[in-house]
Amino acid sequence: MKQMKKRGLQWALIGASLSFLGPLGEWVFLKLFAKATTDSLLLTYFYTEVVTLISFGIFGYLLGLHAEKIEFLALRDKLTGLYNRHYLIEHLEHLLAQHRRHKKRSSVMMFDLDNFKKVNDYYGHMIGDMALKAVAECVQRICRDSDTLTRYGGEEFIVVCHDTDIIEGSQLAERIRESVEYLTIESLGFPGPQTISIGVHELSPGDELTVDKALYCAKKDGRNKVFITDKKKAA
Ligand code: GH3
Ligand code: MG
Ligand code: MG
Repeated sequence: MKQMKKRGLQWALIGASLSFLGPLGEWVFLKLFAKATTDSLLLTYFYTEVVTLISFGIFGYLLGLHAEKIEFLALRDKLTGLYNRHYLIEHLEHLLAQHRRHKKRSSVMMFDLDNFKKVNDYYGHMIGDMALKAVAECVQRICRDSDTLTRYGGEEFIVVCHDTDIIEGSQLAERIRESVEYLTIESLGFPGPQTISIGVHELSPGDELTVDKALYCAKKDGRNKVFITDKKKAA
């Protein structure tokens, strides 16, 4: 999964680059108005540059760490640590653009926890949260590094699988479905089983994202199922 950029280093470099401006201004000022000699100017320039480089570098680094934290809060889900819906929307636009350019095949799957309201009703929200985290961790373990797993909202998740056709996508979905079904009380917090229903859709240039319809069909089909949008492609 794509890592967030290291903002600390990025901003430290920006700060360090800007640190050259202050001493340069001081050089021009002293030369013009104090008629300073080149030797004394060099010494002053060297001293001021070292001090501003260190202070701007540290300031930039701290600013970058702060920016990283804000980015994390804006794009990640607090409970599971996964990317959230905002990130997904941005990511999908980028992915679709890449699609059009390189004609690559990618699949998207959407899954939803089955009868999850009952878990909250019987065992309470704390256990419900624990189960959500357990499912997210389980799916994250199965997904490849190149896949992007996001919490779309509530108990619904979306996985974007790069360079994956509908056959590979449905095989991955089946592995995910099975693994979640076998989660035990240790991770779920209640005896289980907790099942999920999954819709899988292969992205094609110009088409509409109908993965939610596939998920709806998987639910209608009795839950704990994988449903693909275009069966002909997978045949
Ligand atoms: P279905 O199989 O049709 O999806 O049934 P469902 O009960 O899972 O669906 P429903 O939409 O009726 O209920 C979803 C539940 O998910 C209700 C809501 O309280 C719970 N939920 C959503 N987000 C969270 C969360 O962050 N923590 C907890 N504990 N529960 C959540
Ligand atoms: Mg549900
Ligand atoms: Mg739901």
